[in-house]
Amino acid sequence: MKILVINTGSSSLKFRLFDMQGLVRLASGLVERIGEADGRTLLRFQPPSGDREEQIERRLRIADHGRAMEEMLALLGESGLLAHAGELAGIGHRVVHGGETFHEPVRIDDRVLEAIAELVPLAPLHNPANLVGIRAAMARAADVPQVAVFDTAFHQALPEHAYLYGLPFHLYEEHRIRRYGFHGTSHGFVSRQAAAFLGRPYGALNSITLHLGNGASAAAIRGGRCVDTSMGLTPLEGLLMGTRSGDLDPAILLYLARETGMDIDGLDDLLNRKSGLRGICGDNDMRAIIGRAAEGDGRAALALRIFCYRIKKYIGAYTAVLGRVDCLVFTGGIGENAAVVRETACRDLEHLGIVLDRERNQRQGPAIRPIHHESSDVSILVVPTNEELEIARQVVQVLSSPKVHTP
Ligand code: ADP
Repeated sequence: MKILVINTGSSSLKFRLFDMQGLVRLASGLVERIGEADGRTLLRFQPPSGDREEQIERRLRIADHGRAMEEMLALLGESGLLAHAGELAGIGHRVVHGGETFHEPVRIDDRVLEAIAELVPLAPLHNPANLVGIRAAMARAADVPQVAVFDTAFHQALPEHAYLYGLPFHLYEEHRIRRYGFHGTSHGFVSRQAAAFLGRPYGALNSITLHLGNGASAAAIRGGRCVDTSMGLTPLEGLLMGTRSGDLDPAILLYLARETGMDIDGLDDLLNRKSGLRGICGDNDMRAIIGRAAEGDGRAALALRIFCYRIKKYIGAYTAVLGRVDCLVFTGGIGENAAVVRETACRDLEHLGIVLDRERNQRQGPAIRPIHHESSDVSILVVPTNEELEIARQVVQVLSSPKVHTP
C-alpha cells in the first residue's frame, strides 16, 4: 500500500512516498523555485533492486504547481517505485490552518476545499499554497483519495481558558481570534512515540513536548489530549525561534509604529523574519550559533541563553498546568541534536523532578533515547519527529474508517 505525502509552499513542493506495509520511506524529494527561471527537482530513493540510495536531480523552469506535480510523478516513475499515480492508495496533504473547523484529518471533497479556503485570512501565506497543491494533485490523480491533515488539529482539544486571549470577547465571536497552535502533527506523533517507548498507555501519560526547529513550540499534553501550546493565532507566539520573536509585549508594536512610523508590512517582516536568534546575534542556524558561542562570541552565547531560558519558562508553566509530568520530550532539528540546548533548558529543575544525565545527553543517534538521570522523576526523552510518516498513517486511518468526514 503506497501513500504519497505532499507539503506545498508558495514556491515549493516537498513530497515523500511510503510503503505502509512496513512503514518504510521509499523516496523523498522536492520541487523548488516554482515559477522562477531556475527551478530544481530532486528525488532521493531506494531502488527496488539495489541497496544504495540513489538520486535524480534536474534544473529546469517549472511554470506552476501543476507542472511541479507532473515533474514529481515523472521522477517517481523513473525511479521504478511508482509507475503511475493510480498505484497510490492515497495522497496526504499537510495543511497549515484548520481553524475551528477541523479537529481531525479529513478526506477532501468540494466542501472541504471550500472550508480550507474560508480559513485563508487566518493563514494568508500557507493555506492558499496548500490549496494550490491539493487542486494540482486532484487534477493529476483524480481517482486517488486525497486527505488533508492539519497542523492545528491536535490542539483543538485545548480548553477555552487556554485558547482565549484577554481581548474583547466579540473579537473571538466575529473574527475567531484565539490560540490555535501549530506543529500539532509533530507534538501528537512524538508524545505517542514516547508513551510506546515508556510502555505506558497513551491515555494515561502526561507529557510536555518541545518541538525545536527553525520554528519552535511547546505543548502540554494530559492523557493524550493537548491542554495548552505556545503558538497562538499564528506561529509567531511562544518560544524564541530562528527568525521569529516569540512572546512579546504587544505594546512594542504600538511603540514602534508611533516612534518610527513603521507600517504593518515592516512590523510583519521585523517579527517574522528579522527577530529571534537572528535578531539577537545575526545567525538563525543553531549549529552556527553553538559554534560561535564556543569560540567566545558573546552575542551568540546570549542568543543561546535567551533561547534556552524561554524553553525553561515554558517547562515550568506547563508543569504547573499538568500537575504531574511523566515525560519531557525534545524533538525537531535542535531538540534532537543540540545537547547544550537540552542541558541548559533543564538546568536547576531538580525541584520539579527533572534531572538530566549529562553523559546520556551527549549521546547522538537516530533512535528514541532516554537522557534523564536515574534519580529523575520525569522521563526525559529525545524523540526524532517524523511528520510525514504521521501524515501517511493518518491517511490510512481516514481511508479505513467507515465514518464520513465532513467539516
Ligand atoms: P524546520 O523547522 O525548518 O523543519 P529543523 O527541525 O530541521 O527545521 O531544525 C533546524 C534547526 O536545527 C537549525 O537551527 C539547525 O541549526 C538545527 N540543527 C540541526 N542539526 C543540528 C546539530 N547537530 N546541532 C545543533 N543544531 C542543529
